[in-house]
Amino acid sequence: MSKYRRIVVKVGSNVLTRADGTLDTTRMSALVDQIARLHSEGIEVVLVSSGAVATGRSLMPQTNHLDSVSARQLFSAVGQVRLINRYYDLFGEWGIVCGQVLTTKESLSTRQDFLNQRNCMEVMLSNGVIPIVNENDTISVTELMFTDNDELSGLVCAMMGADALIILSNIDGIYDGAPSSPTSTVIRRVACGESLEQYIQTDRSSRGRGGMGTKSRISQKVAAEGVEVVIANGTRDNILTDLVLSAEDVVCTRFEPAPKTTSGVKKWIAHSEGFAKGALHLNEGACRAIVESRAASILPIGVVEVEGNFERDDIVRIIDHNGVQIGVGRVTADSDKVRSVMGVRGEKPLVHYDYMFLD
Ligand code: GLU
Repeated sequence: MSKYRRIVVKVGSNVLTRADGTLDTTRMSALVDQIARLHSEGIEVVLVSSGAVATGRSLMPQTNHLDSVSARQLFSAVGQVRLINRYYDLFGEWGIVCGQVLTTKESLSTRQDFLNQRNCMEVMLSNGVIPIVNENDTISVTELMFTDNDELSGLVCAMMGADALIILSNIDGIYDGAPSSPTSTVIRRVACGESLEQYIQTDRSSRGRGGMGTKSRISQKVAAEGVEVVIANGTRDNILTDLVLSAEDVVCTRFEPAPKTTSGVKKWIAHSEGFAKGALHLNEGACRAIVESRAASILPIGVVEVEGNFERDDIVRIIDHNGVQIGVGRVTADSDKVRSVMGVRGEKPLVHYDYMFLD
């Protein structure tokens, strides 16, 4: 019996494609077999799969004349079809239906759109369908892109209230030195809040956008929300079933979850920094109140400056009196209204503490 009821599994391009960029269907098939086993044990799995751009690139070799944005759009459009077709056939062999969810950072930036996407995946799961999520790389080409699918998987995990996030890469976890060095070993456990900065290599994976830096940052953020995170080697036989179903101590990096789980809306806000539409600058008294109590709302009297144009319920950054960002929150009024009440005593909170996430 597994302790998990619902998990998010993120599979990187380096796991799914061979060195020449072509889809590694043997590996895909092995992963699908394991997910099918988890599914048969009653565990709900949401799969976040990379691999579209790498696959598309291998299918369209004569594209040197294209600029990098056009090339990425072309590769992702072509590669995503190939990827999802393979998944569809492989899951079909187990009598399991899968469905495609393509998303963008922008389309998750309002609470309503976020809830719509969550509803879509809830309906899929409750009907026994495996959601396969990827960024819609055909249109996500600006600075509003996710850093990589690690970031997307953290958001999906928060969205779906999953019990665990399993990030599959092509190495065993985070090492305490260069992964290629024989003296390096995998860091097996990371306590909540423990810094890994000194161990992180800056080089990125060769076929995807991600690197250990984002993996570690996202893992710590998700673990701080009370969700267990595992970084493991997706190229090892039976890695998923061993991690989820067996009591064996599998080599991987495990981020211990914070004892207290965070509410769904706070999790969304925590992952929404990248889509903030503006900022509220606070005076020193207001900063002290919210940082010290952690349960104080932002009142208009504490706001000294408003940046950007936003609508009610949008996410804004919260800036302290030294100009340093201290968190993000969901605002209760649009930017015109906030400008008209800032500095005024006795008005309603502009960001309620239940809708605020402090760094
Ligand atoms: N969405 C990209 C793809 O499917 C992968 C992004 C990443 O490497 O994290 O190719």
